[in-house]
Amino acid sequence: MGTRRNDGAGGTGGSGEIDPVATAGRLVRWFDRNARDLPWRRTLDPYAVWVSEIMLQQTQVQTVIPYWTRWMERLPGVHELADAPPELVLKLWEGLGYYSRARNLQRAARCIVDEHGGRFPREAAALLTLPGIGPYTAGAIASIAMDHPEPILDGNVMRVLTRLAALEGDPRKEPLNRRLWEWATTLVHAAHSTHALGDRRCSRLNQSLMELGATVCTPGARPDCARCPVSDACAARRRGSQERYPELAPRVPITPRFFATAILVHQGRHLLTLRGDTGVNRGFWEFPSWEIASSASPEKVLGEQLGIPGDAWSALPDLRHHITRYRMIQRVRLAHASPSPAAMAEAAGRGSWLWATEAELESLPLTSAHRKLARRLPAFLAESPQLSGGPAGPTVAGQ
Ligand code: SF4
Repeated sequence: MGTRRNDGAGGTGGSGEIDPVATAGRLVRWFDRNARDLPWRRTLDPYAVWVSEIMLQQTQVQTVIPYWTRWMERLPGVHELADAPPELVLKLWEGLGYYSRARNLQRAARCIVDEHGGRFPREAAALLTLPGIGPYTAGAIASIAMDHPEPILDGNVMRVLTRLAALEGDPRKEPLNRRLWEWATTLVHAAHSTHALGDRRCSRLNQSLMELGATVCTPGARPDCARCPVSDACAARRRGSQERYPELAPRVPITPRFFATAILVHQGRHLLTLRGDTGVNRGFWEFPSWEIASSASPEKVLGEQLGIPGDAWSALPDLRHHITRYRMIQRVRLAHASPSPAAMAEAAGRGSWLWATEAELESLPLTSAHRKLARRLPAFLAESPQLSGGPAGPTVAGQ
């Protein structure tokens, strides 16, 4: 490629010289021809862009599309989000995980209404003051929705930039992280100053980096370099060492955690307890559950907690669920709640409780693991008709 020195790419990897103007031009034109048609790309509404960016953190595009569509139908703007019942916000987020993201969206919407008169902040510096918005998200909103020359740097962009210049070191740590931000800034400024690239060139440049990382410069040993618009300049491709970059620190090993989980049946209803005011899953309902040692007897633990003898429990298949670095294994046991369902609910503790019908199970926000369990319940109960308990009785709830 050209001869201008790139400010951000030099250093540990021996990147050679990469012309930011030529690189930005190739990326933008490639994006124009190859961008996927995603629903949030059909709008310049910063609220819609913000919601998409938060949902896309740690989550695949195809998973996000129906969530984003549903969210925008129910909560189409900051005022609707600020005023929404928290339970609705969590319900719309259910299954995406990392629920603090949903809570922060609502906190930020309330800040925008209370402190910005309901007008979405336009500058990255103002966006950075909102809960849940860090440098990447502020840059993404300001560039994509407002076309400001603000940089972005996420996992996809790190991969593209570290390969392009064969940059050694962990891109999440200094000094490489700072150098990558500088390079991302150089590229978006190069696009901004190149009027021949047409309208919305900062937006298109940043999205081209994201798109290239997501669809062509993919993780692992075989990025699709033949389709890459900047392959001529790519140091990793020249060396045949694409899989070496980025040099991320090894993942933390997965830790198994075991739980005894009780499905209690009473008059066609199931006992749920509400997660309290603290912890990652607060505001969600779940079947009563206690963390146990891998060797512990779930019947014994549940018997001690709920006063139901060990031989009254039926064993259901274990339920496995991955959350970040944990593999959760739920030992699920099912029993009739008798003779006093209210006392049993109190024993399950944790604040509010509810004997829920199947319809209520569907409408309440449940954590992903317990949603899986709720979806399997009809099949479990069909195999154990003596436990189904007949039609649901009246609502019973307490605190
Ligand atoms: Fe990634 Fe290959 Fe393009 Fe280099 S040439 S940036 S490794 S896709």
